[in-house]
Amino acid sequence: MPTGSRLKVEANEHAINKGHFVKLLLTWGQQNFREFPWRLTTDPYKILISEVMLHRTQAVQVVPVYENFVNQYPDILSLKEASKEELHTALFSLGLRWRIDLIYGMIVEIVGKWGGSVPLERDDLLALPGVSDYIANAVRCFSQNLPEPLADTNTVRIVGRLFGLEVKDSSRRNKRFRRLLELLIDHKQPRAYNYALLDLADKVCMKKRPPDCLHCPLLEMCRTGLTAMIRES
Ligand code: SF4
Repeated sequence: MPTGSRLKVEANEHAINKGHFVKLLLTWGQQNFREFPWRLTTDPYKILISEVMLHRTQAVQVVPVYENFVNQYPDILSLKEASKEELHTALFSLGLRWRIDLIYGMIVEIVGKWGGSVPLERDDLLALPGVSDYIANAVRCFSQNLPEPLADTNTVRIVGRLFGLEVKDSSRRNKRFRRLLELLIDHKQPRAYNYALLDLADKVCMKKRPPDCLHCPLLEMCRTGLTAMIRES
């Protein structure tokens, strides 16, 4: 079994040296880290709340709402005292009524079953109302620094482009994409790795605009990027 640095991750007849990939990504990530307030804490409660807020919502829109929310409700026990109407006021600007019901349901479960502490085992997190695989992995990775892959439309877009695989809306649930994300994740600095991958998807390997391959740290190993360069030359 090759070590992490020598491991080759292969798909679609394209191979990537994992150690080199991780090194390039982490170096870029250090220089391009987006300093959101939920990234400056390892408190599972705050990370859980931020992930619910971030679902289908732009991070810049979430920042002021998150900051007010955690000032007002610094832990689950303070949140337990809030009525649904107060939660509605705190979350109103993010829209989506389901988010309020979801947070309310989570509080009831975390207080009733876990004494006010967010559970950290995957199955226990997944049993909370509305906690998806992505949210459970994000809480475990960002609070405990555990090597949990994050499969969302952004991370699968990078993986698909790296290996020249077609990316669809359903790819985040596709076993092949999920396996590639599992194989690529860094086991030494998983928190920094996942932040870097998310930041790369936002700043360089974008969805709506053409990817900025010329400024991408992964260009030398990316099938899509290299193919585009050859076409343009
Ligand atoms: S080289 Fe281009 S397509 Fe490949 S990961 Fe970087 S930005 Fe995305």
